Amino acid sequence: MNKKILEFDVVICGSGPAGATAAALLAKNGLKVALIDKEDFPRDKLCGGLLTEKSYKLIESIFGSDFFEPDLIEFSSSKFEIFYGKLKVLSALSKKLFIYVNRKKFDFAILQRALGFRAYFFNKTKVIDIDIKNMSVFTNNNIFKGKYIVDAEGVNSVVRGCLIKNGILDDGGYKENLTLAMEFYDYKLTTDRASIYFGFTKFGYGWIFPNKERTLVGIGALISKNRGLIKKQFKNFLNLIKVEGPANSGAHLIPTGWIPDRLGCDNILLVGDAGGFVDPITGEGIYYAIKTGQMAADAILMSEKNKLFAEINYNLSAQNIVSNLSKRKTYRNLIFGTRFRLVMKFFLLIILFAFKDKLLKFIHE
Ligand SMILES: Cc1cc2nc3c(=O)[nH]c(=O)nc-3n(C[C@H](O)[C@H](O)[C@H](O)COP(=O)(O)OP(=O)(O)OC[C@H]3O[C@@H](n4cnc5c(N)ncnc54)[C@H](O)[C@@H]3O)c2cc1C
Repeated sequence: MNKKILEFDVVICGSGPAGATAAALLAKNGLKVALIDKEDFPRDKLCGGLLTEKSYKLIESIFGSDFFEPDLIEFSSSKFEIFYGKLKVLSALSKKLFIYVNRKKFDFAILQRALGFRAYFFNKTKVIDIDIKNMSVFTNNNIFKGKYIVDAEGVNSVVRGCLIKNGILDDGGYKENLTLAMEFYDYKLTTDRASIYFGFTKFGYGWIFPNKERTLVGIGALISKNRGLIKKQFKNFLNLIKVEGPANSGAHLIPTGWIPDRLGCDNILLVGDAGGFVDPITGEGIYYAIKTGQMAADAILMSEKNKLFAEINYNLSAQNIVSNLSKRKTYRNLIFGTRFRLVMKFFLLIILFAFKDKLLKFIHE
């Protein structure tokens, strides 16, 4: 079967928060946008669904204060606690709320905004390859040509893989900075707060997050620092919190601490997880996905005017985020890098007690 060639101003690969945000903003400004996803929507997405203040403020600034309809918020709470093993080292009330969303509903809500601005959505359409010179995206269905391509495919991005294969991007540090995250919903455990557990995995932590009529339990840790052990560590964590857990929990990768040497190539831009935009300490990625989706859209709109490559405009605006994430990676290595558990405990206690307010600012802002 001959594949059809479809032409657009912008082809966006991946309709998660990063891609759908970029699509909404570009379509709103009159560009002809193709938004492609291999899944049918609404689709499930393994995620804690925790939104910090900076995330929900950003979302409201882009989509309006009516974005968070009551049905979109599963739970909200300002309570949180931190453990080191069994020892509770901090129990606090944040001045700001943590909001918990269900990604199936949340991602669909952003997609609806993009569709409302008349972005063209192609579901069940899997990106297979790209032709960088001809700005074409090959999928299982059609071939999409665009003046600009936005790569928002998440951690296993095909487009990023092509840029690396063609020597345009350096993948140095990518594998060493992959976090394996596993989680499931528990229907017996109830809680009204976020609980974070350190001390039983290296470069990572376990979590219990509140939710509507169920509780989310998970672990995330750098694979390179815990070779083959994360599943066992998750079991140890579940024993500690006395939760049985299913035979197999959902698992997914998070790029925590890989910052590419380039944020794309000419008029191809990497956003969200595809570009490594995730907090290396907390694993928070929704904020960075939406922020870089917005920045990529702004860069493309600016390129339409100044005729520079969108990569140049994007580099200028994303520099702050890149340097902020680099700083956080250095802090991560300082906090988790110590070889002595006692020193680590001591470190944590000092940080938590002395800088409780700073810690909350660090998380929320
Ligand atoms: C277990 C877990 C818990 C997490 N908890 C939190 C949390 O509580 N708070 C937080 O802020 N972050 C959290 N994160 C991180 C967060 O989920 C990601 O950073 C965020 O989803 C990134 O958004 P994105 O749009 O870049 O990519 P994604 O959300 O991954 O979206 C990518 C989209 O691209 C599509 N796609 C992929 N490949 C192709 C292809 N070849 N062709 C076409 N389409 C494709 C996918 O179907 C998907 O819809 C968590 C991650 C995990 C794994």
